[in-house]
Amino acid sequence: MAEALPTTVAAPEERPAAAGPRTFDVRDPATGALVGTYPNHTAAEVDAAVARARAASDWWQQLGFAERARRLDRWRGEIARGASELAALVRAEMGKPRADAQLEIAMAAEHLRWAARNAERVLGPRSVPAGLLTINHAATVEYLPYGVVGVIGPWNYPIFTPLGSLSFALAAGNTVVFKPSEFTPGVGLWLKQAFDRVVPERPVLQTITGLGATGAALCRAGVGKIGFTGSTATGRKVMAACAETLTPVLMECGGKDALVVAPDADVAAAADAAVWGGLSNAGQTCLGVERVYVHRDVYDEFVSRAVTLARSVQAGPGGAIGPITMPRQVEIIRAHIADALARGGRALLGGSDAIDGRYVQPTILIDVPEDSTAVTEETFGPTLTVTRVDSMDEAIDLVNASAYGLGASVFSRRHGPDIARRIRTGNVAINAFVAFATIPSLPLGGIRESGFGRVHGADGLREFTYPHAVTRQRFRSPLPLTTFTRGPRTDALVGRLIGLLHGRA
Ligand code: NAD
Repeated sequence: MAEALPTTVAAPEERPAAAGPRTFDVRDPATGALVGTYPNHTAAEVDAAVARARAASDWWQQLGFAERARRLDRWRGEIARGASELAALVRAEMGKPRADAQLEIAMAAEHLRWAARNAERVLGPRSVPAGLLTINHAATVEYLPYGVVGVIGPWNYPIFTPLGSLSFALAAGNTVVFKPSEFTPGVGLWLKQAFDRVVPERPVLQTITGLGATGAALCRAGVGKIGFTGSTATGRKVMAACAETLTPVLMECGGKDALVVAPDADVAAAADAAVWGGLSNAGQTCLGVERVYVHRDVYDEFVSRAVTLARSVQAGPGGAIGPITMPRQVEIIRAHIADALARGGRALLGGSDAIDGRYVQPTILIDVPEDSTAVTEETFGPTLTVTRVDSMDEAIDLVNASAYGLGASVFSRRHGPDIARRIRTGNVAINAFVAFATIPSLPLGGIRESGFGRVHGADGLREFTYPHAVTRQRFRSPLPLTTFTRGPRTDALVGRLIGLLHGRA
């Protein structure tokens, strides 16, 4: 049984306390009504939670894969039975329509089931062949949990996104201290309370609430690994804090995903995917479509279909898309639209007057230069830039020019796999939007400024473990190599073996 890994904790005097108020309020972004008040946990409180998690770690590991899977399955049942309440809480805290929150729960449950069912197969001990020089040894590898994992989550998919880390970290045998976004702490607490009902014995999953400083304290609390999902800017701070104690990190950061439409595409399907991918969740999706590159042969048809579809989508109370969750994001969306228009872009829908308070109406921009912030930076609003290209080579170059590298979509009847292979992002969906994120056996994650490491699938399980390699000498070697008693005969034999084994390579 692996013990919680000993990790360095910075001395208390070097560690900033979670400064600020003792509590913070969560307000419904649609109405401004108070939804709840939560503790802004201090560094000392975070340390105490991590200490409790460390004490519970052996117990959780000793339950073994099968019993952990049973508990995680029961947690899934709790989440499913409470889905309606949970969806209402998501709606109240971050504003997305309840039906969209329900979709998020459905997707998260699939990953939870997969993690529980596959952890032993992926992580359990397996024999590997020993080489010729070490034929007298048996060699095995297994993947052991870190002990305690810290998970820091965002608000935009407050169930699906943290569960991508929580499910896999727990199935792998870690206890977890979870810091949800300050916009969705109630959802984080709800998940923990549901977990407590199926694992009442020990604090295997704890939720700490607070602002950014609480997250920073978790980075410095000596956990075995931090699973971070959030913006690239915060990701840099998380890495810097984790660097102090060499705490490893998983970085699931921002994106600027593109959708590519080839001349042989099903243009109606591509327009539908672009509009849903760009506008759903009010565009507040890490994997949301923000840029579209369309071959000139089908450009006019695509634009006309996309504008018609997007015109039917309304932002507003009871509309298909809800408010912008973070007040400061509204100004970023406004600035990106303004930059696009000031630099020669045109709004075929929405535009500068699309913003009314916290609601942003669908906006489709064309002729936007590639160096506009509307193309280079994450907008996180219901906006699309649509750009005409002369060839798929040009589209691929423009997709790959982004500083981000999270996901992409390609629409082409015949050349999808060829185009997808040349796109430098962690994930690509052909003739669909975001399908890769819903398939539990596929890893999800980014490259470049979208981060590194993976959630979901076998890679997502291994992400919260370390490989533990063990050899067992089965019999004494006729050719002992690592001893001072080795004689010239052995040395001569090794010399001949090098030639025999590798000389003709
Ligand atoms: P954010 O970076 O503002 O916050 C994320 C989390 O980090 C929150 O819990 C926050 O309290 C915490 N935090 C803030 N400062 C911190 C610090 N100094 N140290 C430690 N933790 C700190 O992000 P957000 O606005 O909540 O989420 C939106 C962002 O998340 C977008 O950029 C989106 O693309 C990204 N995202 C990425 C994925 C993915 O899978 N790659 C998924 C969802 C969201």
